[in-house]
Amino acid sequence: MTPDAARAPAAGRPPLHILMHPADNVAIVANDGGLGPGSVLSTGLVLREKVPQGHKVALVDIPEGGAVRRYDVPIGYALKDIPAGSWVHERLLRLPEARRLEDLPMATRGATAVEPLHGYTFEGYRNPDGSVGTRNILAITQSVQCVAGVTRFAVERIKALLLPKYPNVDDVVALEHAYGCGVAIDAPDAVIPIRTLRNISLNPNFGGEVMVVSLGCEKLQPERLLPPGSIPIADARGEDAGLDVVCLQDEAHVGFLSMVDSIVRQAEVHLERLNRRRRETVPASELVVGVQCGGSDAFSGVTANPAVGFCTDLLVRAGATVMFSETTEVRDGVAQLTARAATPELARAIVREMAWYDEYLKRGSVDRSANTTPGNKKGGLANIVEKAMGSIVKSGSVPITGVLAPGEKATHKGLYYAATPASDFICGTLQLAAGMNLHVFTTGRGTPYGLAEVPVIKVATRSDLARRWHDLMDLDAGSIAEGRATIEQVGWELFRLMLDVASGRRRTWAEQWKLANQLVLFNPAPVT
Ligand code: CA
Repeated sequence: MTPDAARAPAAGRPPLHILMHPADNVAIVANDGGLGPGSVLSTGLVLREKVPQGHKVALVDIPEGGAVRRYDVPIGYALKDIPAGSWVHERLLRLPEARRLEDLPMATRGATAVEPLHGYTFEGYRNPDGSVGTRNILAITQSVQCVAGVTRFAVERIKALLLPKYPNVDDVVALEHAYGCGVAIDAPDAVIPIRTLRNISLNPNFGGEVMVVSLGCEKLQPERLLPPGSIPIADARGEDAGLDVVCLQDEAHVGFLSMVDSIVRQAEVHLERLNRRRRETVPASELVVGVQCGGSDAFSGVTANPAVGFCTDLLVRAGATVMFSETTEVRDGVAQLTARAATPELARAIVREMAWYDEYLKRGSVDRSANTTPGNKKGGLANIVEKAMGSIVKSGSVPITGVLAPGEKATHKGLYYAATPASDFICGTLQLAAGMNLHVFTTGRGTPYGLAEVPVIKVATRSDLARRWHDLMDLDAGSIAEGRATIEQVGWELFRLMLDVASGRRRTWAEQWKLANQLVLFNPAPVT
């Protein structure tokens, strides 16, 4: 496929519909702008009314109470008779009950061996503990939100005065967050935000150069955040791993600028060491990829997410680590996931995480159906079941060999279910904590999402979005819907793009514009 072909106008194309499974009784309309009444599909079916792009058309008469099937599952039940050729929108469907978490198929597919994929490498920063970074960043950890303004001021000064002296360092980033004080820090669930913050500080992109800015009186004391021996990269370097803390309430500080000077002075020690890092050729197995989607539409599950799923299989075959997340968006596919778990123990861990999340939602008097947005529905997704079936395909087809609770760090290679909320910012933050060194994000409605800590590759589900947001989207998967490329072709294109981005040979659009969303910690525990 040539770039010109990707940009060719879609107008004047014959009516195009996409069927996901032969047993489905709805298909989606693929044409830009949708199709008007009287349009004739290739099957001979005549549309009774306008069906917007990405929305569903009934292929047969569906009686009241009948199942509406897509991806070969009932995504809902008809609230009234739906004649063939009608627009099947969310107001016509009743949401199915959530799958019970009992009597699930547990590890029934077993630990089937994947066919190895050899010969792929990238240029990365090898850390002394064996982990590999894709960027060389000084990250300044904060133990509490109180210090955010001072740290931000200091970071601006470091960027202006010091960074030009250390050309091998890509950036200086403050790990700003809302946690640290005014929270019930001994509540059982407080472990989640605390380990998240700890594990983010240890992300391979930061080279083990951990420094902390603390206020002094906060609940989350630096030693609780990063206890002795918790920095494996520094330990592997054989250093005295005493924690490097700048405490603003220290009596040594007289005035604001004294605090800033302390932070800048300490930062320089780390910058000197980071500047000595060099990229070296490492196998593709050193990638730790977090996949997620945001601003989804009905094409997400047809184009971009299946291409990501194909790429997930390539990565795992190459020995890499891939994590998929977004619990509410995989909850309706729980039986597929437990079946794909490599062992019964992993299947039970999946159930444990889903049950915890069901309970968490129940405490807030909602359920998984609270997930979908007005934009999802406008994009053709009727409800959470349909969204989930399109979301889960990002996980590919390989066995699941790891399960992480929110904020935990991946410890081995293979495919992980890293349980996180579907919220883009919280999911990205938790995947950073899990050790992600590259992020892949699919979007149908469009989002300028980015992170300062790792490169984010954004994949558009539709060519129309890729054309309009040509300087925000890194890859166009819409070519799949228009028949100009296959899922396999786009999957390979993404795989190669990932190796280029990981190597620093290519920067993502979000990096070029310096678009970065804030870290958002998941704190299910009470605040005080
Ligand atoms: Ca998301």
